Amino acid sequence: MSIPDLPPPNKRLGQNFLIDPNIVRKIVALAELGPSDHVLEIGPGRGILTEALCHAAGRVTAVEVDPRLHAYLKTRQAELPNADLVCADALAYSVESLPMSTVVVANLPYYISTPLLFRLLDQRGRFPRMVLMLQAEVADRLVAKPGGSDYGVLSVMAQYAAEITKSFRVSAQCFRPRPEVASAVLLLRTKECTRLSQQEEVAFRALVKAAFAHRRKTLVNSLRHEGHELHPVAETLQRLDIAPTRRAETLSVEDFLRLACALGWRGARVS
Ligand code: SAM
Repeated sequence: MSIPDLPPPNKRLGQNFLIDPNIVRKIVALAELGPSDHVLEIGPGRGILTEALCHAAGRVTAVEVDPRLHAYLKTRQAELPNADLVCADALAYSVESLPMSTVVVANLPYYISTPLLFRLLDQRGRFPRMVLMLQAEVADRLVAKPGGSDYGVLSVMAQYAAEITKSFRVSAQCFRPRPEVASAVLLLRTKECTRLSQQEEVAFRALVKAAFAHRRKTLVNSLRHEGHELHPVAETLQRLDIAPTRRAETLSVEDFLRLACALGWRGARVS
């Protein structure tokens, strides 16, 4: 087989390739992999992380959307004997085909990191932990605590589903081409027993979204603008001892859960 040239990076696909072996080592160490582990890597790119993952884990499923990079990696299959190289869009790839307890390790394409993250968290029963490189700004939002401007829907929904630790920042110099933004690596340990059913979780997410839809308004006004009736919302907030003048960004994940529960799951509007 003739070896295809290494394709030039496609900016549109978020192709900023890691070039620093130290960062690769730190990412793999954080994932605590052993020979019995199955890893899902999203966006293997040129394979720098894939190769290290193949050494550390039993099996690696590497899902790459760019057919040029997929073809390039195929020529390296001998160096990646335990890798299943899949050419697919990770947003459409059926993660249900992966074994339970698969560990996710990825330097995510930043342009779709949020929908990918939600998709992975929706399937968290399959993924006990994830080590993810993200845009630093998104990482800050994921670990943000109530009270600040970083705290929002992403923080509440992610912290509801996982214990999240920000591990280390990665400078733009560790990539080629260099990204315009700083990056950070997070460790997410998904929670085993989250308290809501799937249907309740949909309603919970809709409530959190509605609460943050108008960040500058009070909670009660934001919910009202999103179609909730004033009276039951005001009465429920009073019952929960949550002042109606508070803004969404001051409520903890626990407060949102209490509110969704007290409003009644059917009362929380699903948009
Ligand atoms: N893992 C490599 C590394 O660390 O050098 C590459 C990381 S690069 C930031 C992101 C990779 O995700 C690229 O290879 C890109 O082609 C791939 N990618 C972009 N969109 C994707 C998608 N929807 N599904 C799967 N892979 C995608």
